[in-house]
Amino acid sequence: MRFDLDALAARLPARPLTRFAPSPTGYLHLGHVVNAIYVWGLARALGGRVLLRIEDHDRLRSRPEFDAALLEDLTWLEFEPDAGPVRQSDEPHVYEDAVARLAHSHRVYACNCSRKDIAAAGDATAGNEVPYPGRCRNLQVPRSMFLVPGSGLRVEIAPGEERFIDALLGEQRQDPSRQCGDLLIRDRDGHWTYQFAVTVDDVRQDIDLVVRGADLLASTGRQIRLARMLGRAEPPVFVHHGLLLKPSGEKLSKSSGDTGVRELRASGASAPDVIGRAAALAGLVDEPRPIRASDVDELIGRAEL
Ligand code: GLU
Repeated sequence: MRFDLDALAARLPARPLTRFAPSPTGYLHLGHVVNAIYVWGLARALGGRVLLRIEDHDRLRSRPEFDAALLEDLTWLEFEPDAGPVRQSDEPHVYEDAVARLAHSHRVYACNCSRKDIAAAGDATAGNEVPYPGRCRNLQVPRSMFLVPGSGLRVEIAPGEERFIDALLGEQRQDPSRQCGDLLIRDRDGHWTYQFAVTVDDVRQDIDLVVRGADLLASTGRQIRLARMLGRAEPPVFVHHGLLLKPSGEKLSKSSGDTGVRELRASGASAPDVIGRAAALAGLVDEPRPIRASDVDELIGRAEL
């Protein structure tokens, strides 16, 4: 498979805006570097721009030291954003306003179900996602309860398919009502969920192109639906790229010492060495060789993916 850059450009405005959106819940690792290669590579190949968005909606797991380290490592790697960094925690009212907007024309309701309650309502074995069974939908909790801590918040998701053409994987069809059911937008601890925060941001920041790992493919239909419900009729273009695997076949984790950018740096690797190693692990080049951040667009146009 190869990127058809002309076909992709035809679906995008001139100077399209994409984003690099790490969560400050750990240090940068080679999986992030692969994502950065695709994000910056596509942005540069298409004459576009990269917004750096720090996704710190999860206030329990986000830590300032990870935030600072992400910025420092990106600078060391020489992946320079055209805008940002912006943080989700900078503007909390944005998400409250979005809930109010949703609640104008959609059913938003308080929900007290735990993950366990939901898992018990379906087949949660083997990591299956169990759609929300709707228990709290009919409780008619008054609107004044919406922003009360201790109670989560959901929005009703109507049945129906979302179709989109992934620039690498082709046509996709997802019915969010069957995948996740009514979508959790704020959890019981009072934190905005990933699905809600990322969609609100992609809408308000006018993101044209979303480039991320294939582990998030199943999230895309619901994000397109939620964006529509928030008033964005035309979704961004999505690209879901392959994930890095360790030789053992497992997904890389943020805690793996052998793949952390900091560890590689401490062991004497240069920034181009680290980028080249990530590119090789992702199959973008046959053998590791030093690659500068400013040259990653050449990988994207040429590589067999
Ligand atoms: N913040 C997410 C992560 O670090 C990425 C979200 C996205 O690209 O949609 O996995």
